[in-house]
Amino acid sequence: MGLHAIELPRRILVGSGVISELSGFLEALGLDGRILIVTGSHVRNNMGSIVTNILTENQHTPVWMEVESATLAEVKRIQQAAAKEEVIAVVGLGGGKSVDVAKLAAHNIRRPLISVPTSASHDGISSPMASIKGMDRPYSMICSSPLGVLADIDLIVNAPARLLASGCGDLLAKITAVWDWRLAWEEKNEYYGEYAASLALLSARFVIRRANEIGKHNVDGVRGVVEALISAGVAAGIAGSSRPCSGGEHLFSHALSLIAPGAGLHGETCGIGAIMVSKLQGEDSTGITDALRKVNAPTTAKQIGVTPEQIAKALVMAPSIRPERYTILHRDGLDYDSALKLAKETGVI
Ligand SMILES: [Zn+2]
Repeated sequence: MGLHAIELPRRILVGSGVISELSGFLEALGLDGRILIVTGSHVRNNMGSIVTNILTENQHTPVWMEVESATLAEVKRIQQAAAKEEVIAVVGLGGGKSVDVAKLAAHNIRRPLISVPTSASHDGISSPMASIKGMDRPYSMICSSPLGVLADIDLIVNAPARLLASGCGDLLAKITAVWDWRLAWEEKNEYYGEYAASLALLSARFVIRRANEIGKHNVDGVRGVVEALISAGVAAGIAGSSRPCSGGEHLFSHALSLIAPGAGLHGETCGIGAIMVSKLQGEDSTGITDALRKVNAPTTAKQIGVTPEQIAKALVMAPSIRPERYTILHRDGLDYDSALKLAKETGVI
């Protein structure tokens, strides 16, 4: 068994209105100086002046950079700005895209990252992984865990409902991810961390148990999903890989994003993938389907605007996305017809 270091966030603050604590939060982490804030234009318009006021009150002069997309070119642009401005830390403020770009840029220039999510759409909030386009692969890469995570529930509750539902899809995907991880341990003698696996499963079970409340989109439900996403990211930090968070269902999601670009959010396609992969694993997939329905996440190809053929093709292509990451899809190697059958049996098509 190889060794791996466990990397975790050092400070996590979750609660209503905690954005006003950002300055003190940075100070508690010993970050006194210039800060680079990476965000999207929408968040900048809504929150730019509020956040600038919060930071300048305490002599933290923020430098703002807007990102358009999670691409390698954007990561490089952020790195150059960070070097030029001599910042001591990078803040990723926004949805998945801004946090992902900020995370990889901060990692590359060896500066700490502070993650300030404005939605709960996936586990990148606290994980050591970043999903960036324009690399040699379509899946996320391991870099560094954020040093701090500050999640303001008031902001996240006001994000579009679809993003929260997507976050739930990413959480339910841990059920099939952990199953696949165990399979890789049993059949390929891969390192398997039971504690990290249990922690990831705990976050998925929370969604199953609280699906009705989460579906109502109230503060308690949203807070629970945010904590579960942070916890799943921490599970990846403990595992030292994305294994507890990402299995065959994620490979399906990545394949689908190549076959039908732009169809469905990350967590939406992972949730749909989890339904089918769970069935293939010999489990009762209806628990996942029911929970997805209750939280208002899509469970069918039609709901995310893809055809039955595209679903089947993505299932067939999935193992080739990461040949070395052994999952049930690698073991069973679906052909087109059996993929179509699986999608039909699970009600996805
Ligand atoms: Zn994910």
